[in-house]
Amino acid sequence: MAHLQPISRFSRFMARHTQRQWLALGGPHAIISITFDDILASAAQAGARILEAYGCRGTFYVAGALTAGLEQGRPTHTLDSLRLLRARGHEIASHGWGHIDYARAAKSAALADLRQNAGFLHTYLATDQPPHFAYPFGRYDLASKRLTRRQCGSARILGHGVHRGRADLHLLGCERFYGPGRKAAAWQAVLHALKPGDWLIISTHEVEDTCGPYGCTPDELTAFIQAAQQQRHRVLPVGEAIDHFTRLNRATAR
Ligand SMILES: [Zn+2]
Repeated sequence: MAHLQPISRFSRFMARHTQRQWLALGGPHAIISITFDDILASAAQAGARILEAYGCRGTFYVAGALTAGLEQGRPTHTLDSLRLLRARGHEIASHGWGHIDYARAAKSAALADLRQNAGFLHTYLATDQPPHFAYPFGRYDLASKRLTRRQCGSARILGHGVHRGRADLHLLGCERFYGPGRKAAAWQAVLHALKPGDWLIISTHEVEDTCGPYGCTPDELTAFIQAAQQQRHRVLPVGEAIDHFTRLNRATAR
């Protein structure tokens, strides 16, 4: 959420076209993953409650350095709220430790940042699996894609959130459910275009009536989930969505 310099277009192009790890998609339903970056307090509370009211769970990408702090003047999650989210079945994933720009960081600094957050997840949530990851600011390059392939279960960027046929696990896209993307006409068009077997990932931050340009209101999130369920799409956290498609692939391979 800060002013950023242009990054190497070539390195990003190479990241999109190499180091790919395809997940084949399919099945009778479209899958939707609702993700919250940075985990503002309102996302951990109102956001999680709205999902739960509809029998859904979300993916919450935490940057440990933002715990018990302020982000754009809004309170962030606490350790207790992370534990509560986990206990209620939500997925706690990694956003790196210090919310740094992985496209600009030295390789050693990016690795240290990933490891520090993995240590944080291990210490406070007893997480041992390679975490699912979202790039801070959505910024990636070829070196950081190589890194997340080794260290993470998946990695998510910003934009290009509808996956059809297959998805590159280490360059998952998402539709922004904030700014113009939270307008009903924008997300309704995306939902209506979904076909069985597609995977849509959306991302937002705070969930408040007085949300800023990176968040949404409780009513908007509720309307999105209601519409998704009316259209018989299934809502799953990122890790469960990957498991779902992996199981389908095994079943069809038999
Ligand atoms: Zn972030």
